[in-house]
Amino acid sequence: MECIFCKIIEKKVPADILYEDDKVIVFKTIKPSAPIHLLAVPKKHIESIDYLLPEDSELIGDIFLIIKKIAREQGIDKSGYKVAINVGKGGGQEVFHIHFHLLGGWKNAKDRDIIGMP
Ligand code: 5GP
Ligand code: ZN
Repeated sequence: MECIFCKIIEKKVPADILYEDDKVIVFKTIKPSAPIHLLAVPKKHIESIDYLLPEDSELIGDIFLIIKKIAREQGIDKSGYKVAINVGKGGGQEVFHIHFHLLGGWKNAKDRDIIGMP
């Protein structure tokens, strides 16, 4: 399967992995849009939010708890952060394996504006 995130999950492509369990992996993006820019990715290949099924709801809930934990570990829980999801080509999605961008660590408030983030 020609999915870069599946390849990272299968360890066929290297990535800077910060967290992993049997269902979820969190790694650094190769093209950061913020001082801290991580991707939280379910191991199940789901193309986008548009392909979510009712049975995926627990998995998606778990990802938010993992994001909360990682944000604390990264020291951005108090300063605040963004969680962003691009959906479809028109929404800026480039990798069609659902993922949650975790962005934070800005020094200046003006740098927080990430509209247009790829
Ligand atoms: P999207 O635009 O689909 O919401 O976000 C795709 C994200 O995946 C971007 O942050 C992009 O930099 C990241 N990305 C694309 N290819 C790779 C890769 O091979 N390795 C890693 N670590 N990140 C990738
Ligand atoms: Zn995939």
